[in-house]
Order: sequence, then structure tokens, then C-alpha cells
Amino acid sequence: AATGRPLLVCRGVAKSFGGIRALQGVHLQVDEGEILALVGPNGSGKSTLINMISGHFSLTSGTIELAGARLDGLAPHEIARRGIARTYQIPRLFDHLTVLENVRLCAFFGGTRESAGEGDAEALARRWLAFTGLEAKADLLPPALNLHERKFVELARALAARPRLLLLDEVLCGLTPTEVDQAIAMIRKIRAGGTTIVFVEHLMRAVVALADRIAVLDQGALLALGQPRETMQDPRVVGAYLGT
Ligand code: ADP
Ligand code: MG
Repeated sequence: AATGRPLLVCRGVAKSFGGIRALQGVHLQVDEGEILALVGPNGSGKSTLINMISGHFSLTSGTIELAGARLDGLAPHEIARRGIARTYQIPRLFDHLTVLENVRLCAFFGGTRESAGEGDAEALARRWLAFTGLEAKADLLPPALNLHERKFVELARALAARPRLLLLDEVLCGLTPTEVDQAIAMIRKIRAGGTTIVFVEHLMRAVVALADRIAVLDQGALLALGQPRETMQDPRVVGAYLGT
């Protein structure tokens, strides 16, 4: 459960792409141990915010801190070393490496702890593949997997880095209801292991099942922040989804 100690603090975070203001001055605090859902209509800036936290996009203005230390301006690999791991809306795996090798790379290089030795990295990778139910796929290449399997390999990779903060961008999208249930159970276990989670999600069933709080973005601005059920019933949030 959330501790009340801030882990991630975004202050006045803004991003422009040429004339498009994708994010405009977002303030957001995520406490250690919390699960925060980031929701909002398509194009509202959810992935942009994830990309700024992970260092894949620079900030136009504002600051981002992890446990009191500034992250903005650091490269993605430096941010990974500070303890942030992520998945992508469209999985990004090395197609010429096996599933095990994909995960092993992150166990070897990733994360906050001292880098694992070769043997340890393999054992860690196998452990996270078992956690995501993919042990039997270890020796396959990613193109041989279906979407749900590729997404779970990405999740195993992120977990192999032992992050303090895990960022998930639409990890449930395209999954069957049974696979969604598996993923919900997995995300609960990940949090129980002490990892703080920010996840972008459209599926309200999952948001309500998982999130301590939800942050609603609309046209690049934070429209509402609070408990899942009451926030989703906020007339401004309903209006944003209906485009009114
Ligand atoms: P969401 O994830 O909420 O659907 P995004 O963060 O992907 O939304 O996009 C927010 C806005 O920023 C959209 O208008 C989108 O077109 C724009 N945008 C996102 N990434 C880029 C980029 N790399 N270059 C230009 N515009 C972008
Ligand atoms: Mg997105």
C-alpha cells in the first residue's frame, strides 16, 4: 500500500511538438507503493508524459524528481539506472534475440542494483519469465509470439531491471478477458513486492481493480485526480470522454 512518501514528483511539466501543446503544466505526485492510473481520451498526452518520465522525450518546461533527485535532462539509460523501467504501447523487443536473451539483457544491464553476473542474469531472466507465464517460450524469437506474449515479455524485461517505479503504457490493450485477469493479478503482485506503478489504461475494469488514485488528462492538462470511482463520475471527466 502507499506510504505517503512521494517517489515521483512532476512540477509544471509541459511539452510542445512544434505548434502542438501535448502537455501543459502538469503537476502530479506519486507516492512510494502507490498504483496510479493515467487515463484520458486519445491524444490527451498520456504517452507523452510516460516518455518524459522515462527520458525518451525532453521537457519543454517543468521538472521531474524521483525520490527528491532531478531526472529531467538525464538520458533514458541514466533514468533506468535510477530505478525506472517501462513498457511501450507497441512492444519494442529485439526480434533477432530469443525471449530469454531479451529479458536477460535487462537483468544484466538494467536496474538499480549492481549489475547481475552472467549466471545470475540468466536465473533472474528465467524467474521473471516464469512470473509472466512465458517459461515455455524462452527459446523462441519475438516474431513467433502473439501480442499478449510480446507484451508479457516486455513486462518481464522491465521487471528484470528491478525498478522502484514501473511505467506501463496500455499493457492490457488487445488482451482477452482471461489474459487481462492474469495481468491484473500480476500487477498486484508486483506492487506487493514494493514497486510503485504508473499505468496508462483505457479498460475501466482494470483501472478500478488496480488503481489507488487516477489522474485524468484532457488536451494536455490534468483535469481531475482522485479515487477511481468518484473521479470517473466527475461531470468534467464524463464530458471529456464524450467530447463536450
Ligand atoms: P495519448 O497517449 O494520451 O493518446 P499522446 O501523448 O501520444 O496521447 O499524444 C498527445 C499529443 O501529442 C497528440 O496531439 C499527438 O499527436 C502529439 N504527439 C505525441 N508524440 C508526438 C511526436 N513524437 N511528435 C509530434 N507530435 C506528437
Ligand atoms: Mg498513448
